[in-house]
Amino acid sequence: MDTWSGPGHLDRCEHQRADPAWPAACWTDPAAILIPVDSVGRVGVGEGFALSERPAGEYDPQRHYLLGLSRRRPVFVESVDAVPAGAGLRELMPAVDDERRELVVAAVALASWHRTSPHCGLCGAATVVTTGGMVRHCLGCGRDRFPRSDPAIIVAVLDADDRLLLGHQAVWPQGRMSILAGFVTAGESLEQAVHREVGEETGLLLSDVRYVASQSWPFPRSLMLGFVAHAASTEIQVDGVEIESARWFSREELTGAVDAGEVSLPGEASIAHRLIADWWGRS
Ligand SMILES: [Zn+2]
Repeated sequence: MDTWSGPGHLDRCEHQRADPAWPAACWTDPAAILIPVDSVGRVGVGEGFALSERPAGEYDPQRHYLLGLSRRRPVFVESVDAVPAGAGLRELMPAVDDERRELVVAAVALASWHRTSPHCGLCGAATVVTTGGMVRHCLGCGRDRFPRSDPAIIVAVLDADDRLLLGHQAVWPQGRMSILAGFVTAGESLEQAVHREVGEETGLLLSDVRYVASQSWPFPRSLMLGFVAHAASTEIQVDGVEIESARWFSREELTGAVDAGEVSLPGEASIAHRLIADWWGRS
């Protein structure tokens, strides 16, 4: 599965949405769909995870956010208290096609941003929704606020024997392992974040850090930036705080550990899975 490297399915209609009449007209389009998202990011879906709900009632620009057009269908998002028949992204992402995966990820990300941004981060005044849901305008200082993502790196570290480094976080269930990841901090480049996170968590020095692909990961608003790197050393010293244990796996060792049920890996809809599978040759 590779849903991240090509163009998206969603036309966000940057120019049309500047006209306030246009999102309102989209609401009454017979082909329009509405994706309800509840306060914990569960998505209202129909039978077979279909996105089949139609907009109903009066269009309210403060509650109904236009994601854009997907195959010419207007797609709206609404934040609701609860969804009667809902599914979380971890359940939905591996179960639906590329188009629906993109729509539900974008819907959850946008709904989360609106829910957590009622006030201006600069002056504290109330904000109102404009441009069909892609901007919040501050009524105090007049600044516009846009949906943001928090960059985080995730990295497959390989040693000179082409073994893969996997770590286990203290908060994970027993046997769960993955490649290392962490948030980019203020003033840091992505590559610096890769070096720092791997150094902090395992004590390893890296060479040859290479970018691979990215994935939106709205839990609640991360952008995962995937890398492959080579270790200049092999001795691991885990920090014992975030990473409880870590070890090197050859392909044969990982196959044996997974088949024996000793190790469980990230779900297939994640970029962690893709980076591991790219090295492993198995998905
Ligand atoms: Zn303000």
